[in-house]
Amino acid sequence: MSSPEGLDSAGSSADRSLRLETIAARSGRSIDPQTGAVTLPIHLATTFGREPDGSYPNGFVYGRLANPNRQALERAIADLEGGADAAAFSSGMAAVTAVAQTLRPGDRILVPEDCYHGTIAMLDQVMGPWGLGLVPVAMTDPRAVATALANEPAIQLVWLETPSNPRLDITDLAAIVQAAHAVGVRCLCDNTWATPILQRPIALGVDWVLHSSTKYLSGHSDVTGGVVVAAQADEPFDRLRQIQQLAGAVPSPFDCWLILRSLQTLAVRMAAHCAGARQVAEFLAHHRAIDQVLYPGLASHPGHTIARSQMADFGGMISVLVQGDRSRALAVAGHCQLLTRATSLGGTESLIEHRASLEGPTSRTPDNLLRLSIGLEHPDDLIADLSQALAQV
Ligand SMILES: *Cc1c(COP(=O)(O)O)cnc(C)c1O
Repeated sequence: MSSPEGLDSAGSSADRSLRLETIAARSGRSIDPQTGAVTLPIHLATTFGREPDGSYPNGFVYGRLANPNRQALERAIADLEGGADAAAFSSGMAAVTAVAQTLRPGDRILVPEDCYHGTIAMLDQVMGPWGLGLVPVAMTDPRAVATALANEPAIQLVWLETPSNPRLDITDLAAIVQAAHAVGVRCLCDNTWATPILQRPIALGVDWVLHSSTKYLSGHSDVTGGVVVAAQADEPFDRLRQIQQLAGAVPSPFDCWLILRSLQTLAVRMAAHCAGARQVAEFLAHHRAIDQVLYPGLASHPGHTIARSQMADFGGMISVLVQGDRSRALAVAGHCQLLTRATSLGGTESLIEHRASLEGPTSRTPDNLLRLSIGLEHPDDLIADLSQALAQV
C-alpha cells in the first residue's frame, strides 16, 4: 500500500518496539501538513486530480479504490494486529464475503461448530450455490481438526473464531495453525470478540484476521464496518484487495474516521469491559437461577487454560444458561431495566440478548441462553439490575 506524506500513523509497522496502548492511542494520528490539524480531516472527495503528465501525485485516484481516511484506518488496524496490510469493508459480513470470494468453486472451508451465525449462513446459503463447501469440525479439539484436514479433500481455509459467538468456545490458535500449515492450508481468525488488545492471532501464526469493526473497534454502537488484516502482503491478499476495489463494499470516509477515532481509546475501553465482565461473571456463577456461565475467565470454563495462554484478558462477553426453559430466559431479559435488550456487542452500553430468537430456525444455540455484552457502566449497577431481574423469575 502506498503511504502518502502525512498519513503515516505513529507506531507504524516500522516501529515494533511501541506497546499496544501506544499504537492504539496514536493510530493514524499525525499533523496534517496543510493545516497543522492534529486529527486527519474527513476526505469526502470521490476523485483526485492528475498532474499535467497524467500521474497522481499522492497515489489516490478514485474513492472506491482508495481514500485517505480508509488508508489511515487500514494502516492503524494492521499495526494493532501486527499485520503487513489490511483491507477495510462496509460491514463485517462484507469482509467475510470478500474472503470467501478469494476462493474458487469446489474449494472447502473447515468451520467451527460454534461460530457467528451470519458467517455460516452467508458461506452456506450465498456461497454454497456458487460452489463453496463447508466442513464443520469440533475446532476446540486439535486432533479432530488434524483428522479432518487429513481426510477431507479440497480444504483451502480454516475458519477460526475464539472466543466463539455465542458459546465462548476457546480454540487453541497455535495448535490449529500448526495442523493446518503442515498440510499447506491457510488460517483465518475472526478476532471481533477479543480485539488485538486481548489476542493477536498473527503472532500465533494465523494468516488473516477478520473483524466486525461494528463491535469493539468502533465501540459506540454507531458504525457498521469490517476489516481483514493480512500477516503477509502476498498473492492471496492482492486478490482480496482486488475484490475490495472491484466489488466495492467499502466503508464511507466518515465511518473510517469514526472507527479510527475509536481505536484511540480501544485499550482503555477493553480493560474496563474485561474488569466489568469478570465481576458480572463471578456474580452470575454463584446465582442459583443460573445453570451455567460461559465465560473463559472462570476457572471452570473448559477453555480457561488456553485462554490464559493466548489472551491478555478474557473480554467483555458472557453467555449464561438460565435454569429452566426459553420463557424463563426471555423473562430474565424482560425484567432488566439497565441492560438494554438488543443484539450486537462492544458498545459502551451493556446489552442482553436471547440469542436463539435472533438466529432463527437454523439456530443451534440453546433456548435458555442469554448473551451479555458488558459495557462501561459501573459493574455494581449491572449486578444490581441482573439481581432484581433474576429475583423475579
Ligand atoms: C457481528 C459479527 C460479525 C458480522 O459483522 P457485521 O458488522 O454485523 O456485518 C462477524 N463476526 C462476529 C464474531 C460478529 O460478532
